[in-house]
Amino acid sequence: MPIFEFSCQACGLRFEKLTKIGEEHNIKCPACDSGEVKKEFSIFSSAGSATSSGNACFSGG
Ligand SMILES: [Zn+2]
Repeated sequence: MPIFEFSCQACGLRFEKLTKIGEEHNIKCPACDSGEVKKEFSIFSSAGSATSSGNACFSGG
């Protein structure tokens, strides 16, 4: 199941929810229980720009 991201138009809460096909228009805000939620573009974790921090120096000697 795809995870869609929604943003509540009432309170502005952004939340993710596992949504079935055709159920995405039947989502309510978990905070204020409002149906005025807008589906955001869900970003699937594919391109991860992780900063390579910490240099492990293996100096043999
Ligand atoms: Zn809300």
